[in-house]
Amino acid sequence: MACNLFMPRTLKATLQDLGTGVINLLYPASCFCCGSEIDKPGLCMQCRNALQPVRAPFCSCCGSPCDGEISGPFNCSNCSGREVAFEFAIAAYLASGPVRSMIHDFKYHRRIAMRDTLARLAENALDDPRIGGGKGWLLVPVPLHRRRKRERGYNQATEIAAAISRTRGLPMCQALQRNRYTCSQTQLIRSERLNNLLDAFALRPSPAARNAIAGAKILLIDDIFTTGATADACARVLRTKGGAKMVVVATVARS
Ligand SMILES: [Zn+2]
Ligand SMILES: [Zn+2]
Repeated sequence: MACNLFMPRTLKATLQDLGTGVINLLYPASCFCCGSEIDKPGLCMQCRNALQPVRAPFCSCCGSPCDGEISGPFNCSNCSGREVAFEFAIAAYLASGPVRSMIHDFKYHRRIAMRDTLARLAENALDDPRIGGGKGWLLVPVPLHRRRKRERGYNQATEIAAAISRTRGLPMCQALQRNRYTCSQTQLIRSERLNNLLDAFALRPSPAARNAIAGAKILLIDDIFTTGATADACARVLRTKGGAKMVVVATVARS
């Protein structure tokens, strides 16, 4: 393929990796969630057992799990009659306990060392039969605004997508950019979130990125799926502006 879909990692991320390596040599590893001492960086057995994987039955559109006996595909009450630009969304885990605390620390406390553990967790979503492990799909991370990326030090979605790309041998393309510095989505009600996201995303003006997404089956990667408004806005740009064949959303967790 003519274009290099594997974006070079930032020098900063590489230095952070080196720093983490040195720290691991000096200090024994501790569980990312509870801090108990373990052999290698990750989660201890107890925290691992506390993970809550998303299991069927779940909504065929947004991936929200549902208690009770349902056989065959169904749409949850949120998704019935709702038009979204993505095909469906799938999260590997519920955003509770260790997953919630790791995502928070990864995003807001620069715990870059958690990247590979989070990517391994996210990969479970790729094993959904509708994705089939990811072969034939292009990974596209949900972008952060430049200013937010500077504040955080890295884009958590890009870091997770890059780690998945390396282990699964899947192409990755940072095809989107975030044009508006939106205020934190968590503070807003649903209608405000949607307004906040109008025109927030655009295609990057890179011919290689545009070539890569035209006609592609895209796995949009993010850390967490909440209302789906961000994923919908990104998928809309990828399909209408970029000519992607389809967009599926895969996240570590869903709330
Ligand atoms: Zn633990
Ligand atoms: Zn749903």
